[in-house]
Amino acid sequence: MKIQEADAKSLLLAQGLPVPPWAVARTAAQARTAAERFLAGGAEEVVIKAQVLVGGRGKAGGVKLASEPAEAERIASSILGMDIKGITVRKVLVAAAADIVREVYLACVLDRDARKVLFMGAAQGGVEIEALAAEDPDAITYLHAHPHLGLLDYQARLLAFQLGLDAHLKDAVTVAQGLYATMLDNDADLVEVNPLAIVRERGTDGSAVERLQCLDAKITLDDSALHRHPGLEELRDLDEEDPVDIEARAQGISFIRLEGDIGCMVNGAGLAMATMDLVKRAGGQPANFLDIGGGARSDKVAAAMRLILADPSVRAILVNIFGGIARGDEVARGLVEARSQQARHVPMVVRIVGTNADLAADILRGSEGIETATSLDEAVEKAVAASRREMAPA
Ligand code: GDP
Ligand code: MN
Repeated sequence: MKIQEADAKSLLLAQGLPVPPWAVARTAAQARTAAERFLAGGAEEVVIKAQVLVGGRGKAGGVKLASEPAEAERIASSILGMDIKGITVRKVLVAAAADIVREVYLACVLDRDARKVLFMGAAQGGVEIEALAAEDPDAITYLHAHPHLGLLDYQARLLAFQLGLDAHLKDAVTVAQGLYATMLDNDADLVEVNPLAIVRERGTDGSAVERLQCLDAKITLDDSALHRHPGLEELRDLDEEDPVDIEARAQGISFIRLEGDIGCMVNGAGLAMATMDLVKRAGGQPANFLDIGGGARSDKVAAAMRLILADPSVRAILVNIFGGIARGDEVARGLVEARSQQARHVPMVVRIVGTNADLAADILRGSEGIETATSLDEAVEKAVAASRREMAPA
């Protein structure tokens, strides 16, 4: 799950990292009020930033500076409602603009192959790391944190030197270790600060001082660990989620959309994967992974059907249910009912084995548009064939 910059900054702040204060505004008037506050507090300019879950907002025109409240209001009203990479901006972040001396890149990600936390750093920040990696791969420093002891002091210092932060060694070590702590405490799989900036500020005596600030933050949380962090679930931004994903979660169905045209409805994650493997082996392409979960009552079957059919590329549906706790007849009834409510009639191939499989077969027999199969191989073959037939007009 991706979270917005403002929420990511809250998590960094909670670890004691240096993040300049901000406000979130949903209207231009709110942005103006926030700007007034920062400008009255001594800021020469404020920065106004689109809050959307994509990178490169700056390039897309979603990050702008203003030096007057009225200008801040104007800019906020132009950013709110803006389309950035297909997403409509609904909120902006407002903060005192930093006087940037230099921008660096620092992030940690879960390296699944190494089973360690991998730090990535670049002395040249601000730009998207993918672009830098393609252009100048040697400009990126990689370093694995210790699997048990975390990012050791000498490792953090090594990163700092490689980012050219010699003059800010202590702060850089704090930031790097803070990123690690943020990752661990929240079960994140990515914590990225880009830019981590050396900014110029005025000291109490009016002289200029330079210090590090996290000016942008991107955090991705591990969905499978969210149950351990009830507070983080609230950071989910439903505005930016695929409605199909929202519906799947509400129904307790594991659903992942894929590229193919054969919709799969299966109970059990392992069986679902095996079913997809067999579809591929038979020359077909699964349109989704779907584990309907335990029980598989008829309302859940209907919900699963809706999820599958929401994808317009689905040309056939393969149902593979192993009746244990799930009763075959209940699933079959659910299928017939769901089919009668279907707006789009897609051919369906059903294999139900186990508890009440014979009753299921009775229910499905003679049901228009539903083919049955006894073995999984047969079901897969029929589904692949059905996906290749000309579809009858709806
Ligand atoms: P992104 O484009 O989505 O990664 O958004 P960022 O928050 O990283 O902003 C993009 C760029 O805008 C940064 O790399 C900075 O160059 C600039 N920027 C962001 N915040 C400030 C700020 O407070 N002051 C100044 N002068 N520039 C900023
Ligand atoms: Mn950025």
